[in-house]
Amino acid sequence: MTEPLVVVEGLRKTYQKGPKEVAALKDVSFEAFPGELIAIRGRSGSGKTTLLNLVGGLDRPDAGQVTIAGRSVTGMAESGLVELRRDVVGFVFQTFGLVPVLSAAENVGVPLRLAKAAAQEREERIRVLLTLVGLADHVNQRPYELSGGQQQRVAIARALANRPRVLIADEPTGQLDSQTARQIMELIRALVRSEGVTAVVATHDLGLIALADRVLELRDGLLEEAAS
Ligand code: ADP
Ligand code: MG
Repeated sequence: MTEPLVVVEGLRKTYQKGPKEVAALKDVSFEAFPGELIAIRGRSGSGKTTLLNLVGGLDRPDAGQVTIAGRSVTGMAESGLVELRRDVVGFVFQTFGLVPVLSAAENVGVPLRLAKAAAQEREERIRVLLTLVGLADHVNQRPYELSGGQQQRVAIARALANRPRVLIADEPTGQLDSQTARQIMELIRALVRSEGVTAVVATHDLGLIALADRVLELRDGLLEEAAS
């Protein structure tokens, strides 16, 4: 049996919202195997973003554990989390999150610079990645000179820059028209296969859900296996 790459056990996260407590996650567990594309669905406010942030080490739970490739994310000091987010996990967000003053190539180069990749290796990796996402002819354009779908392609290339084991995407097609959304979903599906990455994707998008290997549903702070 293959070992799971991501192990999530008993996650709990409660937010203080003024005088009242909101239990975003009550007791959430799941495992993701190498090369799997997992869709997390659930209505708005069901805790999808909270869960992804905990899996990727962007936030800490009140209780429970996250392990990636045998390393305890929840047990890591801040310096370990910085490394984890740079080398092990790639993030894609609904709003793309590109640096507006940087070109497509420079945006993809940011994580490579953080990882202190040599200039030549960086250039080569940027070229490969932008070709992989279909933007070989747009390397010098800035985000405002690109369509939403193209911006998301740059963000996906950036997320894959340091060859992460895990790709975390939070409603990656949420701001795109349905045709563009479809192209982005298919790109994510293809990249999970070609790059051998494990992807955890929060989405409402039925098209993306249909492409997943497994669908999990968040409801009232609990996660259940859903029919896909
Ligand atoms: P989703 O991504 O599925 O829309 P979220 O994880 O963003 O869900 O939110 C889950 C619940 O936690 C919601 O009730 C939301 O209002 C609440 N919540 C999320 N982040 C915070 C925060 N920083 N402070 C207070 N409440 C929050
Ligand atoms: Mg969300």
